[in-house]
Amino acid sequence: MRRAYNKGEWEKARFHAFKIVDRPKEQELARSVIIRSYWNQEDTAEVIRLNLLWGNSFEELSMKAKYVSQKAISPNSKVHHPRILKLQNGQPRPQNERKEWNDNDIESNFWQEGSRVWMVHPHGWTFWDMPESFSLSSTHPNLLKLTAEILLYPWMNSTKAPFVKTRHIGSLPALAFSAGTDSTAAALVMPKNTILGYHRRTFESILDHRNADRLLTHMKEEKGRKVVDISSNHELIRTYYYKQIGFSSDFSCATHLILLADHCDIGALAFGMPLDNTWLAKGRKFREFTETPYFKYWTERFLSAGIELFLPIAGVSEAGAMKICQDSDILPYLNSCLRGDGIEGCGKCWKCFHKNGPLGRPFDIQAKEIQTFLKRKPLPTATHALWALQQLKLESEVPELSSLLKTDLSWWTSSYPPAKEILPLRWREETWQKIHDFLTPMNEPYPVESINHYNE
Ligand SMILES: [Zn+2]
Repeated sequence: MRRAYNKGEWEKARFHAFKIVDRPKEQELARSVIIRSYWNQEDTAEVIRLNLLWGNSFEELSMKAKYVSQKAISPNSKVHHPRILKLQNGQPRPQNERKEWNDNDIESNFWQEGSRVWMVHPHGWTFWDMPESFSLSSTHPNLLKLTAEILLYPWMNSTKAPFVKTRHIGSLPALAFSAGTDSTAAALVMPKNTILGYHRRTFESILDHRNADRLLTHMKEEKGRKVVDISSNHELIRTYYYKQIGFSSDFSCATHLILLADHCDIGALAFGMPLDNTWLAKGRKFREFTETPYFKYWTERFLSAGIELFLPIAGVSEAGAMKICQDSDILPYLNSCLRGDGIEGCGKCWKCFHKNGPLGRPFDIQAKEIQTFLKRKPLPTATHALWALQQLKLESEVPELSSLLKTDLSWWTSSYPPAKEILPLRWREETWQKIHDFLTPMNEPYPVESINHYNE
C-alpha cells in the first residue's frame, strides 16, 4: 500500500488500503491513504463524502476539497482558501470581544489591553504589540483615525471623514523601515536621530525575517540608530476582502509609527519610495508627481495628524538606492530576495535579476520567473529593468526589447533635483546633501522627464 502510494499509483494503493481498513490497528493509516488518493485524483466529492463518513477526521483536506470544487463551479466566487481561513481563525482574540466596528466614531474602534493595542474592523480584530510604557489614552485621536483610514479606506469610505481636532506637529523624523534596499537607502540619507520602525508579521509566512534581523541589529548596535520593532497582524485585513496577505495600502507599513507618534514625539514619517514610483508612474512614464491627487491628498492628510510626509528618496531611482547601499558598508546585510536562505539569494527570481544582478550577485537569466517577467508587456519596473540589462550587458539575451534598449539609461543612478523641494524644510538641506555623498544630480534637460517607454 505504501509503496503504491509513494509511486503515485492511487488505485492500487486504495485497493490494498480497502483490504485492511476495518482492522483497528491499521484503520487510521488506511483511511488516510484512501482519502488522500482520491484527493490526488481530484475527486473532491469523494473526499468530502468520506470525511463526513469518518467523523470529520480529515477536516482540513475536506475544506480544501470544498474550496477547489467551488472554484471549479464558479472561478470568481468569493471563498477563502482553507489556509487563509485557518490563519484568520487562529488569530489572537481580545478579552473585550463584544466591540463592534463603529462608522461614526472611528477612534472608539481602538482600545488597549496590556501593551497590546486592538482595532476592531468589520470582519474581526487586528492588533499591535506596543512598547510596555505605551498609552493609547495619551495618543491623539487623529493618529487613530489616520491608522484606521490607511488600513480600511480601500473598502470603507467612512474612514476618510475630515479630522475635527488638530495635533501639534512632533519633532522627530521616523522611517517605515523594511530592511530592503529602498528603505535602507532612505535610512542612510536621513538625519541620524531618525527612528527606524520595523513592522513584524506575527503569523508564519514565506517571508524570511532573518536578513532583516541582522540588519536591524547592525543598525542598532553598530550605527547607534534608534530602532522600534513592532509586531502586528494587520496584513490579514485584506484577506477578508478576498485579497492576498499584505498591506491594505501604501502607507500601511507605517501604522505602528503613526500609533507611536505621540509616544515618540514623531513629526515626520518617511517612506523609501523611489523615483520609479514618484515622478514615474509604474516605473515607465514621467508625470508631475506633486500634481497627483495621491501626493496632494496624503501630504495634507498626514499633516492634519501632525505629521509631515517625508519622501527622502523620491528623487532617487531604485538603482540610485542600490548605489547608496553599495557605497556604504551596509551591503552584506542586504538581500532583496525573499526566497533565499536568509543570506544568499535564490538566483532565480525577478528580484535576484534586477536587485541582486547589478550588485554583482549570481542569477540565471534563463530562470523561468525572470524570463516570464522579461517577456511581459509592458515590462515590469521598465526603466529599472532596462537599466539593469544595460549594466549587465545582457541586451543580446532579449532581442524583443532591442528598441527600448536604445535609450541610454546611464543617468538612472543620478538624482532628480526637483525632488529636493518636497523634502520637509527642517531636514531638506541635510538630506539632500547626504544623497550627494553618494550620487550626482542629473543635468538639464533632465532625462527622466522624457521617459515614456510605451508611448502611453
Ligand atoms: Zn531570488
